[in-house]
Amino acid sequence: MLSLLDHEDRTLLSFIDLLPMTSISHILRRLGIPFLLFALFGVQAYSQETSIQVTQPSEYLGYNLGERFTPHHKVIGYFEHVAKQSNRVSYHTYGSTYEGRDLVYVVVTSLTNHEVLEEIRTNNLKLSGLQEGEPTATQRAITWLSYNVHGDEASSSEAAMKTLFELATSQDSDLQQWLDASVIIMDPMLNPDGRDRYVAFVTQQTGMNPNSNGYAQEHDQPWPRGRANHYLFDLNRDWAWGIQKESRHRIEAYHQWMPHIHVDFHEQGFTSPYYFAPAAEPYHPAITPWQRSFQQTIGAYNMAAFDQRGWHYFTREVFDLFYPSYGDTWPTFNGSIGMTYEQAGGGYAGLSISLPQGGELTLADRLLHHHTTGLATIEAVAENADRIVDEFSSQAQLSMSQPRGTYGSYIIPQGQLKDKMHALTTFLEAQGIIFGMADINRSLDGYNYALGAERRVRVESGDLVIPAVQPKGQLVSVLFDPRPGLSDSMTYDITSWEMPYRYGLEAVAIRPALRLSQTQQASDYEPKGGVKVTQNGLATLTEPLSEPFDPTEKPYAYVLPWSSLQDAKFLADWFEAGGHVQVSMNPFTIGETSFPRGSLVITREYNPAMIDRFDSTLYSLAETHGRTLFVTSSGAVTTGSDFGASSMELVMAPKVGVISRDVTSSLSLGEVWHYMDQQLGYPSALIPGANISADVLSELDVLVMPSGDYRGFSESQINAVHEWIQGGGRLVAIGTSLRALERSDLFGITSSSASNPSEDSEQEDPLATSYEDQNRSRVSSFNPGSVYKIRLDDTHPLAFGYSDHMYVMNISNQAYEPLSNGTIGLIDPSSHMSGFIGGEAKRAFEGSMAIGRESIGPGEVIYLPINPLFRGFWEESKLLVANALFLGGL
Ligand SMILES: [Zn+2]
Repeated sequence: MLSLLDHEDRTLLSFIDLLPMTSISHILRRLGIPFLLFALFGVQAYSQETSIQVTQPSEYLGYNLGERFTPHHKVIGYFEHVAKQSNRVSYHTYGSTYEGRDLVYVVVTSLTNHEVLEEIRTNNLKLSGLQEGEPTATQRAITWLSYNVHGDEASSSEAAMKTLFELATSQDSDLQQWLDASVIIMDPMLNPDGRDRYVAFVTQQTGMNPNSNGYAQEHDQPWPRGRANHYLFDLNRDWAWGIQKESRHRIEAYHQWMPHIHVDFHEQGFTSPYYFAPAAEPYHPAITPWQRSFQQTIGAYNMAAFDQRGWHYFTREVFDLFYPSYGDTWPTFNGSIGMTYEQAGGGYAGLSISLPQGGELTLADRLLHHHTTGLATIEAVAENADRIVDEFSSQAQLSMSQPRGTYGSYIIPQGQLKDKMHALTTFLEAQGIIFGMADINRSLDGYNYALGAERRVRVESGDLVIPAVQPKGQLVSVLFDPRPGLSDSMTYDITSWEMPYRYGLEAVAIRPALRLSQTQQASDYEPKGGVKVTQNGLATLTEPLSEPFDPTEKPYAYVLPWSSLQDAKFLADWFEAGGHVQVSMNPFTIGETSFPRGSLVITREYNPAMIDRFDSTLYSLAETHGRTLFVTSSGAVTTGSDFGASSMELVMAPKVGVISRDVTSSLSLGEVWHYMDQQLGYPSALIPGANISADVLSELDVLVMPSGDYRGFSESQINAVHEWIQGGGRLVAIGTSLRALERSDLFGITSSSASNPSEDSEQEDPLATSYEDQNRSRVSSFNPGSVYKIRLDDTHPLAFGYSDHMYVMNISNQAYEPLSNGTIGLIDPSSHMSGFIGGEAKRAFEGSMAIGRESIGPGEVIYLPINPLFRGFWEESKLLVANALFLGGL
């Protein structure tokens, strides 16, 4: 532990005299640096192996670490600079952010290890089972340090520069031994867009002398703060889902290494002591004894380092290991020891803030704490390197020989919607999860997800199989096992997320671990664009689309069944191209082909502006979106309504606005924004809440209200919205925005309370609930997030594309009374499928409205109290939002 003493003091060593000039000039020539030029520069520090000058952060930045916040380009500039100077360090760009900033990591290890780095990396992939072949004996422990995933928890990237300099230059024999024993990967900034938003704010708002009073402007970030990324997503909830490109790039880079240890550096409230592992309960049951125990070992190194300096810390509280999409749990479910470290500060502390006990917390203090745990962790890993590699390897072996959870295989029966199968398999592929086709026909006992119960189930040859026994077996069990067991209800996050519900797919889980005779790729499930000829269609139009289209063959109409978000994307692009559609309010058939409610009918006559490009545009969009268009040569149908009937509603492109800025929740706004911009691909104006007026509204067809408190939304604005609806506008209210509408008596929405008083409130003894237990009794009204199966009125346009039910992720804390003439989705007593929900909250939701519609004059309000876009990851409810935007007015 002595090696944790002030390292900075030992970096100002001059080793140049110890080396023969020949070796220096030789190294410089290899690096393309003229020797004379080198000799002219001042020398700060030397790595024994490199004998090359490594610039201190202060010299590179022009200020001492802790004096200012460093923007992204300078942090990665420094990392790249050090990598050029030190052959302990190599620099890698692995992607870019939405705003175009580079995502990078460096690999830091001894020169000897660098020479066999590719062997170390591939050996580890072989140990993990992700790469075929036998590893050689060259193995090192691999630690991955992730900094600044929350942009305004900004001390960690500063700490990363200090830690890098230390690792690149130190001549301390202990530290050199650490670099021999291990490979350290440092990602200095996981969220560059969010960090730069924060750094710009704090830099602009801070004067020459930082003001440490908490009420000063530099401590009060404006909406939307710097925590989230460009689309205002919390990247520390997105590791498993990869909705944001930063996460997708990072997971890809992670899969190139599969580190044994992962640390995610954060900040919390500015008065809190430092937090490090071991984590709090609940631990997901898939976490192995080794993963539990080694957190304690690392914790002991951190404790010793903090004890030595008299710094406060806590462990085993608040930060649990359950929800699989954090920077600690996702690495854990990928075989690593995944940990969160939390420094006080958290976007409030600026450069300096006064503490209640007296004194100040400065940026310099904060970065020193993160630097200290970083090095203590590296030390813990180095001193246990062989054991870490062995345990990682044997865990991987275990994953490849037996299931980690209850079930051995997860089966998705064939014949389900190809778009959903493709979405699921694309996700599995990105997660490195193997899947393939069943080659057995057998009945056996298993868990039926739709019924939420064990039953006799049937597996048919050709069904999609996701084996739990595979290199990623631990992750597979966590993602698929029904009803993940919760050892403690006081979790930090949602409590269930089973993939079949997420995608709205029928599935069963069985105990036998089926072996795949052949694996598959997502591309095997990719829908291909094409046309199909209905029985009164044109015989000359055939698949595939790549055949040149004959413009003399002009079908009467094209028909597209409406069943997935891909169909909505096709429609969004068709609208963008200037097209119109009719939507069938009733099912119909042409010959033997049946078309459900919601099918799009696209006729030449209703698209006069498209006349020259009508067919070619449809063809090209069908190809782009993998849609099969049915063509017909007549406006007559076999059963149902002809294309000219009034139940074939004309629908044109709506003009959409979304309320933004500080009246809304930044997370909810971000979900809507990303959905419109990146997923649906349809234009929308983000309109600051303060700018909503009758004039602005008169430009819109649809207004989306993301979740938010809307306290800054005035009564006259609510009145203006109501008048606009009376004139034909459509308001789509999501999540907590319903409360703002409920506060006004212009809208018919009413929240409901629990139908039965809770058991807790029936207690007569005032001391029955002790002070200590009060937190737990509040759990009864608590809904951290669980899976519900809501019942749908599938004749309503909002439910088009669904059957009579939909799986939703219910994170709502408020239930609403059903509307007598506008309840499209309802929560039944049997709706709760999985996850923890307090007894009182569960009762409150029974019989409550999940999707509603209220007519106001010719306009309407669509109520979506259960946020269908939560974290952008719940695929099953995304079509509902497209229905609200495009079909809502029908
Ligand atoms: Zn954080």
